[in-house]
Amino acid sequence: MRDNFFSKKGYISIIELAKQKGYRISPVEEVRRVKTGNTPLLVFRHDVDLDLQAALLMAMMEKDMRVHSTFFVHLYNNHYNSLSPEGRLIIKKISSLGHEIGLHWDSRDHPHDLERKLARDRDILAEIIGKQVMSGSQHKPTSTPQVKFHAILKYEMYRDFIYISDSAMKWRQFTPWQLLKKKQNIHLLAHPFWWMIKGKTREEKFFNHFKNITLNNKKNIKKELEHMSHSLKYRKRYDSYFGYFNKIV
Ligand SMILES: [Zn+2]
Repeated sequence: MRDNFFSKKGYISIIELAKQKGYRISPVEEVRRVKTGNTPLLVFRHDVDLDLQAALLMAMMEKDMRVHSTFFVHLYNNHYNSLSPEGRLIIKKISSLGHEIGLHWDSRDHPHDLERKLARDRDILAEIIGKQVMSGSQHKPTSTPQVKFHAILKYEMYRDFIYISDSAMKWRQFTPWQLLKKKQNIHLLAHPFWWMIKGKTREEKFFNHFKNITLNNKKNIKKELEHMSHSLKYRKRYDSYFGYFNKIV
């Protein structure tokens, strides 16, 4: 397996290797509750930066492999909308598959009163999933202001594990495969986009993502047009139900 093999197959190989090495794979909130003794631990975390659909695919794949993890969802995002009907359904679905949902935030989301607004965002997310939100992760933590998150969320990323991230499809000094072979306790951040979207390079993945968005938009536009045609066809009936009336003759 090539170390930079960012694909569904590559992702499955990480889970399979972890299982083979006897790892316990856990969502963030579970880590503090469960004593693992000598069992090596893989804290599995996914920051959803670009695509909720890719997150759902990953969540379903993990569920099939009997693995649970934490998906950190952003409420203010140029790439997807967590508050749209479709967005909320996906977040709920990921939660119902047994995964933890956490709050992903960018400290620049709220230029004023950041902590209070993050607490509000935590509650909005909790309302969507119908469960308490315990964990949070900061987007671009090295280049944006730090937050006193302890008053808002119970868990953030753990600094007592070896932390590795697939950010921009570039590992730092270690890959997950290398660390898993050493049975180290690992905190792995895997962004669903890099693994679930087709393509070998970042550019190819964005191109394919764009095609998926276009297809989804086409479906939504088709539904909207069908709804308009239907409403026009039965306009008189609907107007009378609604009680529509004006005095123009
Ligand atoms: Zn992020």
